[in-house]
Amino acid sequence: MMVRAFAATSPDAPLAPFELERRETRDDDVVIDILYCGVCHTDLHLARNHGGFTTYPIVPGHEIIGRVREVGPQVTRFGVGDLVGVGCMVDSCQQCAPCRHGWEQNCSAGATFTYNSVDKRDGMQTYGGYSDAITVTENFVLSLPAELDPAGAAPLLCAGITTWAPLHRWNVREGSRVAVIGLGGLGHMALKLAKALGAEVSLFTRSAGKEADAFRLGADEVILSGAPEQMAAAAGRFDVIIDTVPYDHDVNPYLPTLALEGVLVLVGYMGPLGTPVNAGAIVGGRRAITGSFIGGVSETQQMLDFCGANGIVSDVEILPIQDINQAYERMLKSDVKYRFVIDMASLAE
Ligand code: NAP
Ligand code: ZN
Ligand code: ZN
Repeated sequence: MMVRAFAATSPDAPLAPFELERRETRDDDVVIDILYCGVCHTDLHLARNHGGFTTYPIVPGHEIIGRVREVGPQVTRFGVGDLVGVGCMVDSCQQCAPCRHGWEQNCSAGATFTYNSVDKRDGMQTYGGYSDAITVTENFVLSLPAELDPAGAAPLLCAGITTWAPLHRWNVREGSRVAVIGLGGLGHMALKLAKALGAEVSLFTRSAGKEADAFRLGADEVILSGAPEQMAAAAGRFDVIIDTVPYDHDVNPYLPTLALEGVLVLVGYMGPLGTPVNAGAIVGGRRAITGSFIGGVSETQQMLDFCGANGIVSDVEILPIQDINQAYERMLKSDVKYRFVIDMASLAE
């Protein structure tokens, strides 16, 4: 099946209209007409080859909400017309220890990602959600709780699960003290989810002017990371810090704000940290720096169900696909409130 899409053909080419072939429907496939697709900072990193491993052309998009158009004969959990979601992965081996544990994102054979990946069954390049339709193995399709607005729910498929997983892993609950670094797509979901889990929530931001939004989104406190006296006043406070900053940055100023045995969880940046980490702040306080990568399929469904039960969606600005390149520029200026979501009906224009 041929579908319309938007693709980048090189690191400095703007995204532009593109046609691609979706595979023949397999027995365990769900074919989804895409209604909305969120715009993640990872889309920009990959479109511009920040990690050095992009295969062009690339069709980004892994925060997908759509309606089931067709199902293969072995599909049991979905039917035509269902509203469903697809996140960052579309397949994994299902046999290895991480897969059996529910950590498909850490599959020993390598998960098949929604875009910029190769499908292990047919060797075809995967293309993401900036397109009319996508074909996905049933096991990687999520049910959208009926309570949730489809456009607002799209970002839950990446920004939601990526912040939910570490909150869950480090047992955030009533009375936990959580801080979030960076108020963007991931950061605003981290505020909402941590608050709904009962935590006391603080935001570290470089941007004066985001305070009112932060409080509305669930923060109890806003700390300007550029203000030394505010940083000093936060010493020894946090059980968990979720660090969503997308580029290299100095983590040292945040470490003293962790409580004894507190953890700083990197989720935003995946390259070498340019500023050496002061081991004293870790050793002396029994603290840890750790990381977290998206989340497993059943954990993602759990997060969606939690959001359904608690009325949580992303704060979105809906745009036509033709505005995607300006959206990337605005994302680079941290000018997003707080997730762009593409209305895929615009592809027909
Ligand atoms: P985003 O919407 O652009 O938000 C990032 C926020 O970080 C900005 O709003 C800004 O907040 C702060 N920031 C930006 N540049 C900064 C810099 N140079 N130094 C300090 N702070 C900076 O991005 P996102 O979509 O949330 O994604 C964040 C990162 O997570 C990206 O790198 C993305 O690739 C990554 N990611 C990782 C996973 C995973 O599985 N681990 C999953 C999804 C995304 P303030 O203005 O408030 O400071
Ligand atoms: Zn993402
Ligand atoms: Zn596996």
